[in-house]
Order: sequence, then C-alpha cells, then structure tokens
Amino acid sequence: MDVVKITPRGYCYGVVDALTMAKRLAQDPSVPRPIYVLGQIVHNRHAVDELSRLGIITLDGKSRVELLDEVPPGASVVFTAHGVSPAVREKAQARGLTVYDATCPDVTKTHQLIRQKVAQGYQILYVGTPGHPEPEGAMGEAPAERVVLVSQIEDVASLRVDVEAPLAVVTQTTLSQWDTAAILKAIQQRFPQAEIYNEICLATQQRQEAAVAAAEDVDLVIVVGDRRSNNSNRLVEVVQTVAGKPAMRVEDVNDLNPEWFRGVRRVGVTAGSSTPSPITRAVIRWLEAFDPETLGPEGSVAAKV
Ligand code: SF4
Repeated sequence: MDVVKITPRGYCYGVVDALTMAKRLAQDPSVPRPIYVLGQIVHNRHAVDELSRLGIITLDGKSRVELLDEVPPGASVVFTAHGVSPAVREKAQARGLTVYDATCPDVTKTHQLIRQKVAQGYQILYVGTPGHPEPEGAMGEAPAERVVLVSQIEDVASLRVDVEAPLAVVTQTTLSQWDTAAILKAIQQRFPQAEIYNEICLATQQRQEAAVAAAEDVDLVIVVGDRRSNNSNRLVEVVQTVAGKPAMRVEDVNDLNPEWFRGVRRVGVTAGSSTPSPITRAVIRWLEAFDPETLGPEGSVAAKV
C-alpha cells in the first residue's frame, strides 16, 4: 500500500528531554533509590515499560498530590513533562524527597503566566481536558475560587465570573487548535474584556497542521498513539473534523485491522508527540507490506500480513 509518512510526527522536544532525564537518572548511582515518576512520564505504555526495565517505578491512577504519599522517605521523584502544581512541589519538599523536574518549558511558561495574572488580581478561565495532569498542575497555580476549567464550547454559556475583576483565558498546550479557536471566540463574545492567551505549543500545532495538510491526498490517516495521549486523540479529531477524512488511532501494530483498508489506495501515518519511533516504524512497515487487493470478498479477510 502507498504510505505517506507525515512529518513532523512523534516525540517532541519536551518528551525527548523528559525521557533523557529519566534514563540518565537510572544510570547515575548517586541518585537516591528508589526512583519514582509521578504519573506516566509520557502517555505511552511502551515508554513507561522501557523505564520500568531500567528500574524506574511509575505511580499512576491518582492526583499528583495523592501519589506523593506512595513515595517512601529518602527516595527520588521525577515530575513529568506535564508539570505539577505548587502544592505538589511543597509537599515533596516537606517530605524531604529528592526532586527531578522534567516539566516542559512550554508548560512552565503557562504556569508563570497564570501566577503573574493571579498576582495582578485576575480570574482565570483555563481551557483544557478534564482529568488530564496538565490542567491539574497549571490550575493549581491559582486559588480554587479564582480558576475555572472550560472543556467544551457548551460550557461557555453557563460560566459565572466576577464582572468587576479582570479575566484571563489560558489554554492547555496539547489541544486541537481549531476546537480551541471556536471556544476562545465564544468566550471573547461573552466576555469582551477577557485577555486571551493561546498556549497550544508549537510541536502540537505543527503535528496537527501537517496531518490536516497530508490528509487531503490520502484515503485514511493512521495515528499511532496511546489512548491516554491527549495530543494523539486530537490528531485523530482534526483529521476527521478539519480535513474531513477518516482517521484511526492505534497503540501499536497489533491494533491494525486489515478490514479498515478495503478500497484504500493511499494511507497517511502520523504519531502523537509521546509515541516512540520504533512503534511507529513497525506500523509503517506493516502498511507498506500490506496489499488491500488481497482482501477477500467483503466480510472475509484473505490477506495475512
Ligand atoms: S506536547 Fe508541547 S508542551 Fe507537551 S511536552 Fe511536547 S513540546 Fe512540551
């Protein structure tokens, strides 16, 4: 099958830096053991498994503040590229843990912005994904009564803000730029006084724009990425809604279903910024070797790849 390898795709600089830090710590005997990561270092189980083989323990399934309770005294803890709230930093310090901070500089920038605006008396509307660690960390920079999460355009009509106080709108770094533009426009219409800070990072923008542009010349786009990867899910969404082409997300080669490629002559492949390259390469090799012509009649798959 004809395969278009969409670029840029895969690891962004924030993810590369976080993984490099974790692997360096694993090799450094002076780093206090055990070494824990607070949440998945990146949202990809293959990357998490690789760290586990190096002896690094990933804590997951609770908020960052709660996860800290599972780190024993004297251990090391790594903050992921998604960033953490000041409450997490303070608790780690109070517990005397050795901290290694892999927060992406682009996330740090949004934390600084929220801190600065809160200090100036602003209320914050944070546009982001509920349950994702990045909003948890960034919104933690503001007192709870001064920050509200906006996750969809339908939220805007029911927002309650203090009309006397200035208002700043800050976004998560890995959102769909098209969806976000619509949400920001709705906020601006309802609150003309709002200051808008679109913090979608360059790596996210470039991957989305490349996927949408490439989708014009293909029949289907495959996005390689973990189910928990926000930016991978947004890649699927922008191909479907902005380019109007079908898109499927796979975690690895095992998720590929030959039936998807019936009648497909050309397929595009991209990957979320947390997807390891070898996983994407295996998907590309499978697709290049696959010939949809070998599929049997509808409903039966004659081809085995
Ligand atoms: S997706 Fe953007 S903000 Fe997140 S780690 Fe990568 S570069 Fe940083």
